[in-house]
Amino acid sequence: SDVLHIVGGGMAGSEAAWQAAQMGVDVVIHEMRPEVETFAHKTGNLAEMVCSNSFRSDDSEQNAVGLLHWEMRAAGGIIMAQADAHRLPAGGALAVDRDPFAEAVTAQLMAHPQISVSYGEITELPDQGHWIFATGPLTSSALGRAIQAETGSEALAFFDAIAPIVYFDSIDMSRAWMQSRYDKGDTEEERTAYLNCPMDRDQYEAFIDALLAADKAEFHEGETAGYFDGCLPIEVMAERGRETLRHGPMKPVGLTNPHQPDVKAHAVVQLRRDNALGTLYNIVGFQTKMKYGAQADVFRMIPGLEDARFARLGGIHRNTFLNSPTLLDARMRLKSRPNIRFAGQITGVEGYVESSAMGLLAGRMAAGDILGTNIAPPPPTTAMGALVTHITGGADARTFQPMNVNFGLFPPVEGLKGGRRGRKDRYKAYTDRAKSDWRDWLDATQSEAIA
Ligand code: FAD
Repeated sequence: SDVLHIVGGGMAGSEAAWQAAQMGVDVVIHEMRPEVETFAHKTGNLAEMVCSNSFRSDDSEQNAVGLLHWEMRAAGGIIMAQADAHRLPAGGALAVDRDPFAEAVTAQLMAHPQISVSYGEITELPDQGHWIFATGPLTSSALGRAIQAETGSEALAFFDAIAPIVYFDSIDMSRAWMQSRYDKGDTEEERTAYLNCPMDRDQYEAFIDALLAADKAEFHEGETAGYFDGCLPIEVMAERGRETLRHGPMKPVGLTNPHQPDVKAHAVVQLRRDNALGTLYNIVGFQTKMKYGAQADVFRMIPGLEDARFARLGGIHRNTFLNSPTLLDARMRLKSRPNIRFAGQITGVEGYVESSAMGLLAGRMAAGDILGTNIAPPPPTTAMGALVTHITGGADARTFQPMNVNFGLFPPVEGLKGGRRGRKDRYKAYTDRAKSDWRDWLDATQSEAIA
């Protein structure tokens, strides 16, 4: 049939519905609330913001999430239009008056002649028709089981265990070095796949003290029920014994520091390349419930990371998400069932803005399929394209964890100064290029859709 079914009327599902309907496609939104609840949602509204009321930076020249705002506005997005209409004063950030915002999105979707809402839980992946699943981090258990049955249990996670991610160009390579443990690997690339930061005994002891003393966040009530699979935060490992980390993720064996070949490190922190571009590195095994402010202070105690800049900080949350790099094609379709797309946080992006953005793309591409126009994904030079390219192929599938948009996902602009000094010019060049390429993509796909 020609109807687009969208499961989940959250941030992503709402945007997907709006985009497809604006392209002239009939849409049914299937939303389980208020009939079936989650531990975080409080209302029956579509596009409910479950926690903070921030869309983060609105700076579209120096900030990747601000750029994503810009791209969604240029595409006539409902989430950005209503966020702007319900904006609260918050300096450079876009803070949103959450209840009126969600009520306005709900009312605007309901008033659209091509959108209807059907309340109730969906528990299967249908064989027929055009579907987008945008059921979010708290996807219902029955549907989670159905997805696992299709994808295999390894390919759907119920928790994220996010290790902090550092920009490579902020790491001090006069202290760190590249080497895989025991030089394992068949190629030079594999033998140097890890970046190592050594600690002596005093540095290790001070690091453990700081971990134990740091401010930590608690799990929400109901969050861990029946799900938590024991991916332990580093501070919990440290609580179990001061040597635990030295025998776990910080073990120093099989590594030789070329800067000090005669000194045996007491502990070694390892970082692993996080994207194909090599611009991002994650700190291996360092998932944590430390608060963000504390994390930056503690991680900058690691030799080589004194001036580290973080593309994202660590965390552990209840979060249902797919191993998208293996499961989804470049147009966000399930490879094994191309009548089904995924969108939003379940695809492995993180945050209100990123989730809405992936809804916008999925909605347009699904509508394109119904209208008989094959909409190509936007180029990776745009914020939208950088994000969708990362989740559907750029990220390492073996270590895939949810991602925020950041400039590390963009192909570098050639011929610009590196390092801290050139950063402002570099980010301006990224965002100028993105805006131009996004306009071109919108023009090309819109004229194609009309033709
Ligand atoms: P959602 O907005 O969650 O929408 C999914 C929708 O699908 C929901 O309405 C749900 O009821 C529905 N649904 C689920 N299963 C089914 C089913 N089987 N059938 C029908 N409907 C179904 N992000 C931030 O940017 N800032 C924050 O501060 C923040 N805090 C968070 C705190 C918590 C506790 C959690 C869980 C998440 C938080 N997030 C935060 C992430 C946030 O949830 C996402 O950024 C965003 O809401 C994801 O959008 P989405 O559309 O993918 O999912």
